[in-house]
Amino acid sequence: MSQQRKTDSIEIAVIGGGVIGLATGWRLARSGKKVVVFEKKEAGRGAGWASAGMLAPQTEAGYEQKDLLEFSLESLRKYPEFLRELTEDSGIKVEAGKTGSLFCALNRDDLERLQRFFDFRQRLGFPVMKLKGEETREKEPYLSPRVTASVFVPDDWHLDSRKLLAALKTAFINKGGLIHEDSPVTEILLDGKTAAGIKVLDPKTKTEKEVKANTLVLAAGAWSSQIKGLPENLIPPIRPIKGMILNLKAESCPLSHVIRAEGVYLVPKQNGRLLVGATSEEKGYDVSPLAGGIKDLLQNAFDIVPGISECPLEEIQIGLRPANRDHSPVLGPSPIQGLYYAAGHYRHGILLAPMTALEVSHSVLTGDFERLKPFSITRFFSSAAA
Ligand SMILES: Cc1cc2nc3c(=O)[nH]c(=O)nc-3n(C[C@H](O)[C@H](O)[C@H](O)COP(=O)(O)OP(=O)(O)OC[C@H]3O[C@@H](n4cnc5c(N)ncnc54)[C@H](O)[C@@H]3O)c2cc1C
Repeated sequence: MSQQRKTDSIEIAVIGGGVIGLATGWRLARSGKKVVVFEKKEAGRGAGWASAGMLAPQTEAGYEQKDLLEFSLESLRKYPEFLRELTEDSGIKVEAGKTGSLFCALNRDDLERLQRFFDFRQRLGFPVMKLKGEETREKEPYLSPRVTASVFVPDDWHLDSRKLLAALKTAFINKGGLIHEDSPVTEILLDGKTAAGIKVLDPKTKTEKEVKANTLVLAAGAWSSQIKGLPENLIPPIRPIKGMILNLKAESCPLSHVIRAEGVYLVPKQNGRLLVGATSEEKGYDVSPLAGGIKDLLQNAFDIVPGISECPLEEIQIGLRPANRDHSPVLGPSPIQGLYYAAGHYRHGILLAPMTALEVSHSVLTGDFERLKPFSITRFFSSAAA
């Protein structure tokens, strides 16, 4: 959908119509700002479209990512209110399910990994439980008899990320936001140390035009480092990490929890789909589905839930995770007045959408960015270039 209105001078330009750009744009529009999202293809079809929709900060907690973990836990806590307001503005009900995750072990190596996984989460005070093979199968009867133990993480949630994207798009438009699709931003325009606007490719004429805007939000996911115009030290060190998920019709093995094991996760969705993910491939911007990745996912999933061999394969979902050098996002203001970042959410963009949208829009509206300080672009200034 491309709405036509003259936009040669606008208040706020959001670069990128993925989950982060749409969520941030929606919050700004909700506060009465005139916001235009520029999207190079179709809004809502970036990495978020391919995502598994897991909201699992406890399972995903990394050993040296304290700030990210706190931000993630806070984002999960904000989700119910965020979804309530989203329904209010979009008329679309997006439900998040608190199914919990079972992290399963099949062999001795897995058991050692499982113990480390359990110990770390217990130290953090998360309510994790260790289960024997039998106990695991009581919770999830379709698991293979080869599963010898598991850790249950009861506080993990997940949602349908495609429904979330549809709701964000509708809510943004309902609040007066404009989306220009097929409109890649080719350059960020600066006037000294102040944001002045963007250059964008006009979908009709295929020529570049300048759009003036004093406030820019860079939310172009894995492509955020590819747009011209920024001084080198202000280009976020983001690279694409390809992820593939197999979308199965799972009537023959309905699962009720998210199942994780080495090299695979299985996420049951409400409409009878089962998502089997995900690969993690450094292939630049190439998004072709490779046979090896499909084979590995199916083999790993089959080892845990043998019944998947009877499930029709409906779709192969591929997306590019936007990964910063330290795998945490870049958020908030930059040394260029009027330029804000909302990029580099790597594996957690769906989970982090509420906090990103709330805090980035808060910093645009008020100038206060205290909560975003750990994610400032300035953290890369002292380290060597990537
Ligand atoms: C297989 C897979 C599974 C995942 N599972 C989960 C999960 O379970 N939970 C979770 O929290 N996260 C998950 N993620 C991560 C999550 O999808 C991403 O972190 C999130 O989508 C990032 O959002 P984004 O808006 O920054 O980027 P994207 O969703 O990629 O959106 C960026 C948008 O910017 C547009 N764009 C790019 N360049 C330009 C330009 N020059 N001009 C205009 N527009 C431009 C793109 O076309 C795109 O629409 C998963 C990702 C993958 C690939």
